[in-house]
Amino acid sequence: MLPSIDLGPLLTALERALLPPQCLTCDAPVPRSDGEALVCGVCRSRWRRVAPPHCARCGGTLPPEGSCGFCADWPDALAAVWAAVWLDEGARQAMHRLKYDGWWRVSEAVAIGMQPVPLLRVPSVLVPIPLGRRRLRTRGYNQAERLAAALARLGGHEVRTDLLVRRRETGTQTKLTPEARRVNVSRAFEAAGRVEGRVVLVDDVLTTGATLAEAALALAGAGAARVDAVTFARARPPATMLA
Ligand SMILES: [Zn+2]
Ligand SMILES: [Zn+2]
Repeated sequence: MLPSIDLGPLLTALERALLPPQCLTCDAPVPRSDGEALVCGVCRSRWRRVAPPHCARCGGTLPPEGSCGFCADWPDALAAVWAAVWLDEGARQAMHRLKYDGWWRVSEAVAIGMQPVPLLRVPSVLVPIPLGRRRLRTRGYNQAERLAAALARLGGHEVRTDLLVRRRETGTQTKLTPEARRVNVSRAFEAAGRVEGRVVLVDDVLTTGATLAEAALALAGAGAARVDAVTFARARPPATMLA
C-alpha cells in the first residue's frame, strides 16, 4: 500500500508558481526586475518603519523620558532585537499571505523590506524560530525558515535550522496577555548541540519578545556568545499595555 501523502501544500505551491507575477496586496503587475518579490515596490514603500530615537535593545521608539519599558524584562540572553516595520495594514496583509494563505514567496519581498535592519549589516548565522510539528504539517513550511532563506540570499548570511528545536507545540498566542505568553512559551525550545559565536534569530512578528527570549535562553545556554533577533514586523502594543 502506498503511504498517504498530503498533496495539498504541494499542489498549492505548484499552482502559485505558475501564476503570472502580481502584487498580492494591490493586484498591480510586479516587474520582472523585482525578481521573486510578490509585493510591489509601491506597497513595500508603504510599510512604516519604526521612528527614531530607537531603543538600542529592542529597536522601539524611545519615550521622551528616555527609558524603554518594552524590553526591560527580557533575559540577558537576548542581546538585541530589531523589527523592520510596524505591523500595520499592508505589513499585516503580507504576513497573513505568508503564514495562512500559503504564499511563501512573499518572503522575498519581506526580506527586501528587512534589508536595512542594522543587526544584519554583517554576514550572520541565522536561526529561524522552529515551528511545532503539527503546524508545520498543516502549513507545509515554516515561514520563519523561508524568511531566513530569503534574507540569506540577499545578504550573504548562513541559515542554520539544526541548532534549535521546539520541544513542544505552543498554542496560538494572539489572544494572550504578555504574562500568559511568557508561560505559554516557557521552556518551549532547546538547543540541538553546542552553539558557538553570534547567532541571529529570525521570526515574522515581534509582539512581546517572549518567544525570542525563550529561544535565546536555549541558545545561550548551549554556548552562543551572543544572541540577537530580527523580525519583519513589530505589533503595536494594545492600548491596555500602554496604560
Ligand atoms: Zn502592490
Ligand atoms: Zn527597548
